[in-house]
Amino acid sequence: MATTAVGVSATPMTEKLTAADDDQQQQKLKKGIAEFYDESSGMWENIWGEHMHHGYYNSDDVVELSDHRSAQIRMIEQALTFASVSDDLEKKPKTIVDVGCGIGGSSRYLARKYGAECHGITLSPVQAERANALAAAQGLADKVSFQVADALNQPFPDGKFDLVWSMESGEHMPDKLKFVSELTRVAAPGATIIIVTWCHRDLNPGEKSLRPEEEKILNKICSSFYLPAWCSTADYVKLLESLSLQDIKSADWSGNVAPFWPAVIKTALSWKGITSLLRSGWKSIRGAMVMPLMIEGFKKDVIKFSIITCKKPE
Ligand code: SAH
Repeated sequence: MATTAVGVSATPMTEKLTAADDDQQQQKLKKGIAEFYDESSGMWENIWGEHMHHGYYNSDDVVELSDHRSAQIRMIEQALTFASVSDDLEKKPKTIVDVGCGIGGSSRYLARKYGAECHGITLSPVQAERANALAAAQGLADKVSFQVADALNQPFPDGKFDLVWSMESGEHMPDKLKFVSELTRVAAPGATIIIVTWCHRDLNPGEKSLRPEEEKILNKICSSFYLPAWCSTADYVKLLESLSLQDIKSADWSGNVAPFWPAVIKTALSWKGITSLLRSGWKSIRGAMVMPLMIEGFKKDVIKFSIITCKKPE
């Protein structure tokens, strides 16, 4: 897999693909992502709740499931703080897009926090339906809405949103340039863009690619979690620079998410976890089987949990 390139194709490959092949690969990837989340979201919600992303931990003490849920909220808060999103009545976000929204946990949280209007998009029809149902049940139906749509071709006009939010969806995007270009297009002048995502480590000077044993770990994760080729945090920064975005900042939060996967594995191995996995189906089971590789990838420093933020010029 071409792990160093950005905007690369959707699956491991050695030969050059034609545009038609490339399109076919992307359609296949999108179908896989939709089916994976259609199948597994109910199980995740049942065990972990409405946020389908890592928690942010201040230490790696042993923590209870309820602590993991607060750690997921902390992740949202840390991301907002890192990007200096203002709470000020005048400056706080009023329109937000949640790109790759899962079942809408971030959207509902942000809508409540800022009193903002929030639109979420996901590839999974099951997620969009559940996200809308939860919004209605929480009395937020007039503030937030969810639909099935592609992040690489968003159904929104230019310059609509003053906060553009992508929490752990970037790793699914087969064309990173298209991804960040769409985030930029829908951002209003002066808007903040927040990308929290899985990256591979930055390459060292002189390195052209990751080492074969590193690529092997990532390839296995890719096929089970429906991910295309990975890129590095530095690749994202370069892409944002190429789009003339401002105040570009990034950080490696890998250390802050370390307790997450051991906890997910523990819940997957519980009676409730095993029975839910078996009920959800093969895609979820395959996903569960590569979880130890996430831990290995972090330990070997090949996987990085990154935040990248910037502002669209006024
Ligand atoms: N941000 C959510 C969910 C993260 S899971 C949360 O933190 O709870 C990844 C999400 O990205 C899923 O909802 C998946 O459908 C979405 N996704 C992946 N590729 C996408 C694409 N091309 N367009 C829109 N959504 C996408």
